[in-house]
Amino acid sequence: MSREKISVVSREKLGLASKLNVRWLGKVPYREALAIQNAMFSQSTSQHLLMLEHPHVFTYGPNADLEKNLKCEPHEVGAELVKVNRGGDITYHGPGQLVVYPILNLAPKHGVNGPADMQAYVHGVEQLVIDTLEQLDVKNVGRLVGYPGVWVDVHSVEPKKICAVGVRVSRGRTMHGFALNVATDLAFMRDHIVPCGIAEHGVTSLHELGFNVTVQQVADVVSVLAAKRFAHGEFDRHDVAWSAESTKPATASSSVQFSARKPEWLRPRVNHGPEVLATKKILRDLNLVTVCEEAGCPNLSECWADGTATMMVLGERCTRACGFCLIDTRKPLAPDTNEPSRVAQAVAKMNLEHAVLTMVARDDLADGGMSHVAECIRQIRNASPLTRVETLISDAKGTDALEVLFAERPDVLNHNIETVARLQREVRPSAGYARSLSVLARANAAGLVTKSGFMLGLGETKAEVEATLVDLASVGVQIVTIGQYLRPSSEHLPVARWADPQEFVEYAMFGESLGIKHVEASPLTRSSYHAKQAAESTTSQASGEPVVVRLAQVGSR
Ligand code: SF4
Repeated sequence: MSREKISVVSREKLGLASKLNVRWLGKVPYREALAIQNAMFSQSTSQHLLMLEHPHVFTYGPNADLEKNLKCEPHEVGAELVKVNRGGDITYHGPGQLVVYPILNLAPKHGVNGPADMQAYVHGVEQLVIDTLEQLDVKNVGRLVGYPGVWVDVHSVEPKKICAVGVRVSRGRTMHGFALNVATDLAFMRDHIVPCGIAEHGVTSLHELGFNVTVQQVADVVSVLAAKRFAHGEFDRHDVAWSAESTKPATASSSVQFSARKPEWLRPRVNHGPEVLATKKILRDLNLVTVCEEAGCPNLSECWADGTATMMVLGERCTRACGFCLIDTRKPLAPDTNEPSRVAQAVAKMNLEHAVLTMVARDDLADGGMSHVAECIRQIRNASPLTRVETLISDAKGTDALEVLFAERPDVLNHNIETVARLQREVRPSAGYARSLSVLARANAAGLVTKSGFMLGLGETKAEVEATLVDLASVGVQIVTIGQYLRPSSEHLPVARWADPQEFVEYAMFGESLGIKHVEASPLTRSSYHAKQAAESTTSQASGEPVVVRLAQVGSR
């Protein structure tokens, strides 16, 4: 079945621009949430409601008076201090506080063009919080004349602020939002700052008022009311796991037996011709490792013949142990400083058109290994200026070290999200859904072509897969790979099911209808499969071209 152009599908017809994509993202560092927001705000027309908690952080707008309103050294109380492009003075975010960021499309105030009605929107956000509190049976909540946010005991002599509201609206899109104190440690607001610069009134929380509700319970109310208020009640909610219990993927009883025979589409005939053997010799002589060989990838001969190969740098020992990955988890060795030049020699000798560098996670290194990968790019560019370089990287724990790699401008920045939000904790316990989205969002903001990938067969549902594609598209990802999870050993996570080849076709169509330039999806697809073609498709398609749906090749290799 060959690739062909079928039809043009609009996002509106798919109703994607109106539905509210509700996501509980768990605990997310402020800067990572900001990177995701910025990408969704500028890269997408989808509507999202991001709900999360932040680790301790004080944020302030450009007009904040820190002299007057910041009463501590943030690092001394275990908090970050972050300057943000929003209205308002200094405020606090931390565990036990439900933070909600609506990324919405607002209709123009008048007619079809022109600015949105900012005031009406702020009023709407405040009303959403008031309705939520009233639904939780909190009395005397409302607005306090002359003050932003939502208050309790508004008619008493001592009204208290329970929710800060700070939004940004531009070109009819919204970002930032509100922070509702559920079980917040109020000492951070009372002892360390003058919240929002308001010294004359205090703050409170639902717990202080005697409402023993969880952040999850409040999030449940907010998501339903927000969908009613901003999306005609239409929403699609997906959460990262709230607890270990709520993430159980496939169990032995509900999964494929390890010894079970794979379906025919997962048993390709692999024949390594003379050119493959010649390439293997080059790699052995240069003491280099390819994922292609390590993982016994069925696509090896096709990729190598096509001028694409994936080299593993920074060693074969990983500081993590994802449930699907056959990797050596002994203590990693120090990076080999000669490796970049050897990689460059191999790329030149193999005359690669598209070189993929992949790495294990090196959380033992201060920069997560990013400067080593950057040096590999430099050396490849010196030795083979025409070779396109793709880097498949770890998340470097979301640190600024990522910028070191971004500055070397890999032709494709690849970072796999691996599975859907709900299964992250079980499948890749040292990584995270929001962290991966933020890595991709930051790479996109740096102007790089971004790519991600995930597996089917770990227990995900169709709705969860589509939601993951919506989120990847919303942070500007241009290339996605989707393949079947294959269990490397009986020690690893069980295969929940063999996904039918037709499913991959449908996900590719869905993904490309969202504006993702290239979705490589088939049972045997791996992160670097058809990497060269995928990269080429991002340059061929001018941005904003109508969405085109393609049929991916299925079965035959
Ligand atoms: S971080 Fe990467 S290499 Fe390490 S265990 Fe996870 S998937 Fe495997």
